[in-house]
Amino acid sequence: MMSLQDKIYANSPLPVQNWLISLYGLKLYHERYGPYYEKELTKLRSRRLVDPQTAQLNRLNRFLKFCQTHNSYYRDLFDRHHVELPLLQLSDLKQIPVLEKETLRTESTIFSDVKAPIVGCTGGTTGTALQVRFTVKDYQARMAHLDYFKEQHGFTKGMKRASFTDRMICPRGQEEPVYWRYNAPMKQMLYSVVHFHPKTIPAYVKSLNDFQPDALDGSPSAMIEVAKYLKDTDMRLTFKPIAIFPTSETLSPWGRALLEEVFDASVYDQYASSEGAPLVTECQHGRMHLHPETGIIEAGENGEVLVTSFTTHGTPLVRYRIGDRMTLSDETCPCGQTGTVISSIDGRQMNYVETPEGYKVFEGDLTATVAVLPNSVLQVQVLQHEIDQIEMLYVKDEDRFENEHETILKQEVERLFTPNMRIRLKNVPAIKKEPNGKIRVVKRLHV
Ligand SMILES: [Zn+2]
Repeated sequence: MMSLQDKIYANSPLPVQNWLISLYGLKLYHERYGPYYEKELTKLRSRRLVDPQTAQLNRLNRFLKFCQTHNSYYRDLFDRHHVELPLLQLSDLKQIPVLEKETLRTESTIFSDVKAPIVGCTGGTTGTALQVRFTVKDYQARMAHLDYFKEQHGFTKGMKRASFTDRMICPRGQEEPVYWRYNAPMKQMLYSVVHFHPKTIPAYVKSLNDFQPDALDGSPSAMIEVAKYLKDTDMRLTFKPIAIFPTSETLSPWGRALLEEVFDASVYDQYASSEGAPLVTECQHGRMHLHPETGIIEAGENGEVLVTSFTTHGTPLVRYRIGDRMTLSDETCPCGQTGTVISSIDGRQMNYVETPEGYKVFEGDLTATVAVLPNSVLQVQVLQHEIDQIEMLYVKDEDRFENEHETILKQEVERLFTPNMRIRLKNVPAIKKEPNGKIRVVKRLHV
């Protein structure tokens, strides 16, 4: 349902909409950039964390103490399991039981008794919506970490951003440009992903050329569509971004390669869930590092991780089974960051194909199959029509794709299953997006 504010926005002329976006932008600006933001950013810049292990343990204990004092769910939990604070070492965290998604969704005592005015919602493809609340301080700390990450790659606050968003910034049925709005306080041009279409893309490219952004961020599948268009036509970019920061969707290796080629800029990925998981960002050597000041990621069963996040005072996450699979490693990196290295993020747990034998083949394994080809497939989607029948749709790169590639790809997909699974491949001009403008890599249609 539309709120009154949404209705007023939708019925306003374009200049008023830009003004309303900027007004909202100004509100966000003040929420994000306050004293806590400055404090955390200064700390990060000066690298005061000499001993990250100790610092992490200290932050953990402060956070758990807070939970015990201000949160009745955790107070009871710690009582029942005889958790003695402070913990003497990080591994003592294992005394605390895992927090399941269902508990987070239904347990009303999970909210702390502090002011936490910023609400985060996560939809999720299963339709179970979760609501979490953040304090202003948490929100600002998270922003500081994200800005510090971008700063490391040359993009500083005050530069121009082009953001590809699934927020409804213009009416769904709108058939003519303008499909973008300007958030003046943040020098951010918001581009509606929902209105992306082969016919509308030239207008987006023209707007990007007029705007001359210093960085691109947001939905990578939208950026990939722009890149594909630029490859196939004579239209050229008249700007060179400093960096590309995709968010919210899994970026495939071939998608990344295409973006870097066409935009002539490096892509730096990040992992930040709307529930408020600890932040994980990519360094200049292409490794994903946990920011140890924001939390702890533990390896769980089947590669599923448990997260403890120090920036979730409103709705504390302690050993939360977030539903993502990751491969953790303790390798060191020449960049000098000390946090755990996440060698791969394998996507949402629910994104999998179920086999007739009852086991699961996950999104990451399915998309990895295209690596046998020389970057000749740009995108895939796997549809499970029946328990024993899948169809892989693929979009090819016309310049690189050769006839035998489909057979090679099919064999690679077959390796993931037994002969009980019937597998079909189909070349399509584009993968159809969901109503929210995103692409779902795996869709189970038989349930
Ligand atoms: Zn590194």
